[in-house]
Amino acid sequence: MSEQVAATRAGDPELGRGADVGAEARAWLAENWDPDAELHDWRDRLVESGWGCPTWPADRFGRGLSAEQAREVQRAFDEVGAVGVAKGTGTALAAPTLLAMGSEEIQRRFLPDIITGRAAWCQLFSEPGTGSDLAGLTTRADRDGDEWVVNGQKLWTTGAHKADLAMLVARTDWDAPKHRGLTYFVIAMDQPGIEVRGLRQMNGYSSFNEVFLTDARVPADNVVGEIGEGWRVALTTLAHERGLGRRPPPPNRSSGRTADQAAAEAEAYNQTYVWYPQRAGRPDLAVPRAVETGAAADARIRQQVADLHALNRVSQLTVKRAEAARRSGRAPGPEGSVAKLAGSEIARRSNRVHTAITGAAGMLTGPDSPHDGLIAEILVSTPAASIAGGTDQIQRNIVGERALGLPREPSVDKDLPFREVRTNRS
Ligand SMILES: Cc1cc2nc3c(=O)[nH]c(=O)nc-3n(C[C@H](O)[C@H](O)[C@H](O)COP(=O)(O)OP(=O)(O)OC[C@H]3O[C@@H](n4cnc5c(N)ncnc54)[C@H](O)[C@@H]3O)c2cc1C
Repeated sequence: MSEQVAATRAGDPELGRGADVGAEARAWLAENWDPDAELHDWRDRLVESGWGCPTWPADRFGRGLSAEQAREVQRAFDEVGAVGVAKGTGTALAAPTLLAMGSEEIQRRFLPDIITGRAAWCQLFSEPGTGSDLAGLTTRADRDGDEWVVNGQKLWTTGAHKADLAMLVARTDWDAPKHRGLTYFVIAMDQPGIEVRGLRQMNGYSSFNEVFLTDARVPADNVVGEIGEGWRVALTTLAHERGLGRRPPPPNRSSGRTADQAAAEAEAYNQTYVWYPQRAGRPDLAVPRAVETGAAADARIRQQVADLHALNRVSQLTVKRAEAARRSGRAPGPEGSVAKLAGSEIARRSNRVHTAITGAAGMLTGPDSPHDGLIAEILVSTPAASIAGGTDQIQRNIVGERALGLPREPSVDKDLPFREVRTNRS
């Protein structure tokens, strides 16, 4: 083993910051990448070395590298087909939240299993009476010795049926104003106090759930941030969610046991999100469908297809801008809301274009229907695009207030003790 690699393994934070990070990564991979390793064992090496999450701090399972250096590392991984860290709600939402707001102890306890994929996560935020007005939530957490006891109901929880851990926001102080009485916890899903009931959607899939919490328990040291500061922590998670555009992880093209296990893991994860391309409207299908059906001969449809194509292209560039900002370490800004709004508009326009091209047959499902029922699936999936991760109206409020500096939306209950706020549960 070269001295350089030995030092890298030993976690020398200076290494990996040098000019030739790619060479260091290649040297490390030459010593360590084993295509037949057990997936979690391989990812344990990524945790120890920091090469799996190179932009994370060097003392928190990363190497403190810049976004540009991380791309060089990724190229080195791609060259040998080395499998990367687990993809999912844990890496996309929980990890950035814990890194930004969690204590060192919390980060050390939860980040490794996010990287390896040993723990799957979900997001227990929305409730039956609380979606846009998230700060009005009424799930309560009451202190009991070294634990908190949680009671309430969450709704729309994507992937709760597969999750080991959840990001939970609950009310811990009913006398504080609504934004100041919340606390953010990491809660274990597999416990007697948590019941997950699947919901069936109008497109036939079942990706989200109702979650009932009845005397569910959370250890006191699972609080992320300070008690009563849960709103600030939740905003961090939401900001990361907006810029996301939730895409399935790309397939790894290498062969061997590690890649096979990673592919099986990705397939299981993607089952929850299999309809997400349809939810986005499938604008990519507009041109081929217009051509194959002959609808392209109609100038009005051609115009609609061209409009959709242009908007989609511009939006892809905005998403890239949001991703580049994130990769360079900038906190997500309003570009996430702009990208999300554009995504909703594309889904809506795609819906209209597919309807114009396909006509009434777009309502059919089954083997004889257009694209084996895919058009019908698009038509009943697109409404989710303008709701999930914050509705269009809420995104417009964010852009208006935070990017354009417009006056804040009037609020009648912001300063009242939450106990005195009228809710649909009071
Ligand atoms: C596919 C999908 C996946 C989801 N996954 C999760 C998940 O994993 N975890 C989770 O916690 N939640 C999840 N959600 C829930 C989602 O965050 C909420 O549905 C969303 O925030 C809207 O809340 P709501 O449904 O209560 O609607 P409401 O807040 O009741 O809104 C109803 C209507 O009123 C409008 N409105 C509300 N307030 C205002 C305002 N101030 N100004 C203008 N208009 C307003 C809204 O825009 C909307 O049109 C998911 C939702 C979907 C569709």
